[in-house]
Amino acid sequence: MSEKLSPWESQLVNVKKTCDLMGLEPAVYEVVSHPKAILKVALPIRMDDGSVEVFDAVRIHHNDARGPTKGGIRYHKGLNLDTEMALAAWMTWKNAVVNLPYGGGKGGIDVDPKALSKVELERLTRAYAVAFANFIGVDLDVPAPDVGTNAQIMAWLIDEYYKVTGKITPGVITAKPLSLGGSVGRTAATGRGVYFASREASKLYGIPIKGSDVSIQGYGNVAYYAATNFHDAGANVVAVSDSKGGIYDAKGLDPVKVMEHKRETGSVLGYPGAKEMGSADVLTVKCDYLIPAALQNALTKEVAEKVDCKMIAEGANGPTLPEADVVLNEKGITVIPDICANAGGVTVSYFEWVQNRQGYYWTEEEVDQRLERVMVTAFHDLKAQADKYDVPLRTGAYALAIGRVAEAMRFLGWI
Ligand code: GLU
Repeated sequence: MSEKLSPWESQLVNVKKTCDLMGLEPAVYEVVSHPKAILKVALPIRMDDGSVEVFDAVRIHHNDARGPTKGGIRYHKGLNLDTEMALAAWMTWKNAVVNLPYGGGKGGIDVDPKALSKVELERLTRAYAVAFANFIGVDLDVPAPDVGTNAQIMAWLIDEYYKVTGKITPGVITAKPLSLGGSVGRTAATGRGVYFASREASKLYGIPIKGSDVSIQGYGNVAYYAATNFHDAGANVVAVSDSKGGIYDAKGLDPVKVMEHKRETGSVLGYPGAKEMGSADVLTVKCDYLIPAALQNALTKEVAEKVDCKMIAEGANGPTLPEADVVLNEKGITVIPDICANAGGVTVSYFEWVQNRQGYYWTEEEVDQRLERVMVTAFHDLKAQADKYDVPLRTGAYALAIGRVAEAMRFLGWI
């Protein structure tokens, strides 16, 4: 039935279910089912061959009851408004789960960044910064990278933003290069957070990470640092993938060597000694921990029926459809939901924003200890909600987040 649900609709299913479970006043759902503000623009860009291409770009403020909106900018071909709205809302819930003083936002451009030259990418990024300069701000809306963007793109954005506003306010964008006020530990933070959340769950559910088999969908930033953290904790990373395909080795892959291979050849495929499979096949190999760390809607009902793991830690945003959640629950598979599992990235983004505002920078050790504390607290907070209502961890996480956002909205007089 829900197979045709869009990401925004899937997100709403979880929100509605949780609002009903908590017996919240209907106004809560009414407010959060309408993004607060959406700015959509068309960016005409001069390409290297002299032609002009027009790119659709958007930035969304979903809810700012708890603070400035915060969330990444995604560059992805086929990106649409519905997915962006879902991604913005997931940021509202994620930021509330880890108790950051932020609302949720997201932005993006419908573009395949790999199809552009470096100069075209820079021109497009600078055009985005100019178009959205009045819609973002250190106390308004704070972008960061997401799928298809990185620290270099943040650097071009901030350079253009400084020129437009005439002020050097590094806290307006996070996950910047270190030399522009970035925070140590930011690049590795999302994958590290996936590990911290999994480690807490592993103790409660009795699935030791040491000696476990881990399968990871994706091999971008989140997947890579999840892989190295699990590997360093004594797990066997048996499978990883990218958009071209997946690789499997029952004896365990070396995450660093796989990344070197991917950098050299453009794909994880062809890694010596590994068996090759389809990109989605890594989701259904037998393992203890499954980490979907690619895109939304990876786990449909059909895929969930074939999943053969004990625990899922969601590195991606929205990888599991509601219909798949039902199947996973029936199979007794614990899911650490995205809005907790992948919150390490935005948590260190928050640390970067705090450091930028103070002009005082922390050590890697300080960042790591604070990240660990935030992730551990968030996991136990949401587990307490799951226990209180006798529901899976995802619903517990939504209860924690929606409860916090609703409280802020009540004080503000919105509901
Ligand atoms: N794009 C990341 C996410 O989905 C990070 C956002 C941020 O650092 O603001 O959580």
